Amino acid sequence: MFSMTFSEAREAHAGLSVAGCGRHLISCFRRYFSVGGRHRGPSGAMGGAEGHTRSRQMAPQPQAHRQKIPSQALQAPDFPVAEQSSSDAGRFLVAQRPVSPGELLVYESPVALGPRASCYPVCLGCHELISDEAVPRCERCWWPLCSQRCASSLRHAAECPVLAADSQRIGQPQFFGYSSKYDVILVVRCLLLRRTNPDAWRHLLELASHVPYRLLEDDDDHQTTVDYVTQVLKVEEDTQLVHHVRDAITTNSFEWTSPSGVRLRGLYLQLSRLNHSCRPSVSVSSDGKGTMFVRAARDLAGGDALTVAYTSTLHPLWERRAYTKQTHYFICDCDRCSDPTELGVHYSSLPCPECRGQYLEPTTWLGDATWECPVCGRRQEEAAIREEVDRWMSRFDYDDTFIKSTPTAVRGILDGVQMAFHAHHYVWVMAAQVAIRTLAPDHSRKAMTLKRQLWQRLLHIYSILEPGMTRRRGAVPLPPFAHSPPAAPAWRSH
Ligand SMILES: [Zn+2]
Ligand SMILES: [Zn+2]
Ligand SMILES: [Zn+2]
Ligand SMILES: [Zn+2]
Repeated sequence: MFSMTFSEAREAHAGLSVAGCGRHLISCFRRYFSVGGRHRGPSGAMGGAEGHTRSRQMAPQPQAHRQKIPSQALQAPDFPVAEQSSSDAGRFLVAQRPVSPGELLVYESPVALGPRASCYPVCLGCHELISDEAVPRCERCWWPLCSQRCASSLRHAAECPVLAADSQRIGQPQFFGYSSKYDVILVVRCLLLRRTNPDAWRHLLELASHVPYRLLEDDDDHQTTVDYVTQVLKVEEDTQLVHHVRDAITTNSFEWTSPSGVRLRGLYLQLSRLNHSCRPSVSVSSDGKGTMFVRAARDLAGGDALTVAYTSTLHPLWERRAYTKQTHYFICDCDRCSDPTELGVHYSSLPCPECRGQYLEPTTWLGDATWECPVCGRRQEEAAIREEVDRWMSRFDYDDTFIKSTPTAVRGILDGVQMAFHAHHYVWVMAAQVAIRTLAPDHSRKAMTLKRQLWQRLLHIYSILEPGMTRRRGAVPLPPFAHSPPAAPAWRSH
């Protein structure tokens, strides 16, 4: 894992400035960028065919991390969580003792909450969406606010004079509509922590930094916000500090939906230590005030890492890999990604054209993957596999494949998908979800039977990809409900 603290990043950044050469930038930071990143196992980095395991067994938990570094109690004794660290996985949370599914492990309120980087006009005081197309504004800073009462709210009062420094109105959203200008708000709020919450500020500085990579990759959105904060708002002179804060938000913030349905993002310092797995071990829920609750999704042993999925577990391998690499700068080697069969579901594979019942498996773990049949050795470039998947997906995205289809026709389409891929493949899962939505108004016996069968198979797949007490499994209707509406809750029964 590329895991420098702010002070380490500052040193490295200083070295880069002296070097002044892109190639040197790469060599300077390559040592921080490791395959496996937040999930590098005890065997270290994998490379090429050597590192390619065909085992279906789950990869072991990172014992090496547990043994090397003594645990440090992080929460009150009631919370069975400890923090550990390693050079490649950074700082991460583990269970301190065996825990049961559903057990509360950590809860936390955000140290800073604000609009997402791009969003529709939202009031900076009450965080409600602004529906007035005339866009009412704060008299002082000219940012959208629903009332002057919100302008004097505790949330906006501290940032208002900072935002008001933009007297030319460069950074304020100009029109009613979707805007990327909100990116700056949470950055400003986090910078203000230095004064308002020194303890949180200290923790924020300790978060892992990916700034050198963002600079290396010419992340325009990142640079634009940093330039605006340092050159227009002038809230902080130290450019590297602003780089760090903006990077910490991009990497670590959690999205939270308010009770009125407004999607916001918050910085949670403890939750930022949750590492990633495409088969997460905890589930995260929230209350109406933005507090997040982390519960064990399944039985965990003492020392097991607490993991969430940074990206959807229903994305195919190449999409998950691209996301973690581009956003978090590591290549996932969780127990699912390091198993070429993806826990036996062949979720991203194509069948081998030569061997009946065999599926191609990824063989290259660095760079562009090639997929290969483990029996006959037939190879296919990943680009061709993606093209085939995209071709099928376009039928469900854009065509009216399922519209006006009878349950029998829908079943035939899904059977066709199953012929082309594994029965648990990504395309089948997506097609089944579309089919269920399309058949929602159809209460005929045939439709209800088909929907129940689809839900049952989806539940089976979800139980492999996100086992335990997870939101994904919880969203699946119980089989009897596929036949008839659920009974009224007890409090409504008379
Ligand atoms: Zn308001
Ligand atoms: Zn204001
Ligand atoms: Zn993974
Ligand atoms: Zn084959």
